[in-house]
Amino acid sequence: MRVSRILKRANYAIAFTGAGISTESNIPDFRGSQGLWKKFDPRMASRSYFKENPDGFWDFYAKRYEVIANAQPNDAHKALVLLENNNYIKYIITQNIDRLHSKAGSKSVIELHGNILMSYCDSCFKEKSTEECIKEFYKTKKAPKCDYCGGLMRPAVVLFEEPVKLIDIAMEIAYRSDCCLVIGSSLTVYPAAFIPEIVKRQGGDLIIINIDPTPLDSIADIVIRDKASIVLKRIIENMELK
Ligand SMILES: [Zn+2]
Repeated sequence: MRVSRILKRANYAIAFTGAGISTESNIPDFRGSQGLWKKFDPRMASRSYFKENPDGFWDFYAKRYEVIANAQPNDAHKALVLLENNNYIKYIITQNIDRLHSKAGSKSVIELHGNILMSYCDSCFKEKSTEECIKEFYKTKKAPKCDYCGGLMRPAVVLFEEPVKLIDIAMEIAYRSDCCLVIGSSLTVYPAAFIPEIVKRQGGDLIIINIDPTPLDSIADIVIRDKASIVLKRIIENMELK
C-alpha cells in the first residue's frame, strides 16, 4: 500500500481531521447527506445568534453536547494513536470539537475549533464545565450564567463570525511538515483547509481519505474515497503497528 510507504518515508507527517472521522462514532457531520446543517440552520452556531437568543443557542448546544459527550472513539481515532506512538505522525490538527482524539489517547492534538466539553464566560473568561452549564440550562431553561460576574457562559468552541484558534501554531507545524494525511474533511472550511494546502504547495505529500470528493483532490498524491476506520485499519495492519 502506497500510503504506508509514504508515511514511513516522511520525516514530519501530520494528520488533519474533520467531521468525517467522527461520523462512525455517531456524531453527525455538517455538510453530508445526514449532516447537522440539513436539520438545523448553521446560524445557530454563530456569535450573532448567541448574542441575540442565548437561550435558543444553549438549547442547540445542549443537544449537540449530549450526542458528543456519549460518543466513543472509533478505529480511525485508535489507529492515529498507534501512528503517533510509533512516531509516524507528529501532530493531529483537527477541526472537530468532540475531544475524541484525546479520549482515544492521542497526545499532540491541536483543536482549531476548540472543544465542547468546556465552557467559559463571554465577559470574564472564567471557565466551567459544559456539563454543569447544561444542568443549569435544563433547570432554568435560560442560558447559564457565570458564577463570578453573572455574564453569559458559552461553550469553548469557535462560533461562526469568530476567529479560528491556534491557526498560527497549526500553520507553523504545516510549514515544517512533509506529509499531510487528511481524514474525513471536506476541505471547504478556511482557514483550516490551508493546512493541507501548505504542506502540498511546499513539496510534501498529500493523502486524502474522505467519502466525498474535496477541492484539493486534484493536487493530492493519493485520494481514497472510503470510510476512515476501514482505511486507517488497513494502513496500521500494513505497517504492522501494535
Ligand atoms: Zn464571568
